[in-house]
Amino acid sequence: MENYQFYTNDAKKTEQFAAMLAEFLQAGDVITLEGDLGAGKTTFTKGLAKGLQINRVVKSPTFTIIREYKGRLPLYHMDVYRLQESGEDLGFDEYFDGEGVTVVEWAHIIEDFLPSDRLEITIHRRGEEERELTLEPKGERFKKICKELNI
Ligand code: ADP
Ligand code: MG
Repeated sequence: MENYQFYTNDAKKTEQFAAMLAEFLQAGDVITLEGDLGAGKTTFTKGLAKGLQINRVVKSPTFTIIREYKGRLPLYHMDVYRLQESGEDLGFDEYFDGEGVTVVEWAHIIEDFLPSDRLEITIHRRGEEERELTLEPKGERFKKICKELNI
């Protein structure tokens, strides 16, 4: 299994990286984000949204679990943290198989519902502003994208 690493030392750089990744994405793509509170999952998602030409401000969807934004492609932003007790299926498939790109914060909580093809990104905090992003592509499509990112 080939992993890819990307280092960033400020939030802008994380957003820029996500925005660059966004250009490769198409309908039905799923990106999972793992990392402690404050790691930068929502920051990454903001960058992804900018890269999809979404002008609205992306907020942490803690209370809503799923938010939808319109851009070059729709973006479905999930933060499933609050499902850790129930592990409830909120009809995720409709999003995963939908017209847009899905990004899931704390994705391991709904592991059973995730599609097998996805891009898993784990963010580790290495300092006040230093972050290490590990990209683990699942499936041929994301393997190709990761290669093309040239990181
Ligand atoms: P999470 O969604 O993982 O809980 P957030 O993205 O909401 O994390 O918060 C990350 C915080 O860390 C933000 O305040 C952001 O500005 C800050 N930060 C500092 N450096 C970075 C970096 N290199 N990448 C991402 N966020 C960073
Ligand atoms: Mg968050």
